[in-house]
Amino acid sequence: MAFLNIHTHHPCPEGEYTIPSYGIHPWDVTDQWREQVSVLRETLQSLPSETRYFIGECGLDKLTSASYQNQLSAFEAQIDLANQFRRPLIIHCVRAVDDLLRLRKKARTPWVFHGFRGNPQQMQQLLRAGIDISFGFRFNEESAMQCPAEHLFLETDEGRRDSEGKSDNSIAPLYATIASLRDISKEALMTQTVTNASRLFF
Ligand SMILES: [Zn+2]
Repeated sequence: MAFLNIHTHHPCPEGEYTIPSYGIHPWDVTDQWREQVSVLRETLQSLPSETRYFIGECGLDKLTSASYQNQLSAFEAQIDLANQFRRPLIIHCVRAVDDLLRLRKKARTPWVFHGFRGNPQQMQQLLRAGIDISFGFRFNEESAMQCPAEHLFLETDEGRRDSEGKSDNSIAPLYATIASLRDISKEALMTQTVTNASRLFF
């Protein structure tokens, strides 16, 4: 078995793998969001029906320059695509949890909130809405300890720089860190996230 990296923008090293994502990042949404969505729809239609992929990362970001109204429209359209193609979403959300939770009600497929750095209270709010949690290298320790095993994922996203400044996309060290926080083995955590991922695809 290999370490699952649920969200990354870089190739995975030996012994690690990811699940691809296709979507419109909230930072990239333009006034032409309808065209962006129809290009995405064509891409999804071209994929073999048994392919495992996420739609995303998509979502809402109040700190970016892209129009928030356009972000809402593009995100809703991607929720519709996810419902239609029966794929989970990988979520990017910055300072927009209220709108996220409101739109969650339209979703009929699982969501994974990526790069979660919030506290346990904020995490519980997402979990109650049926949203899974993915932790990267920056995380709240209490949240990483308390997250229910069956709703937990790990990711490198943009990766890190090693001591010589070279980019390092390995997720194994994060498995080691989180496993020791949760007082379980790295192998048990690896098995858990793989099992969780299989539940996202139905
Ligand atoms: Zn990302």
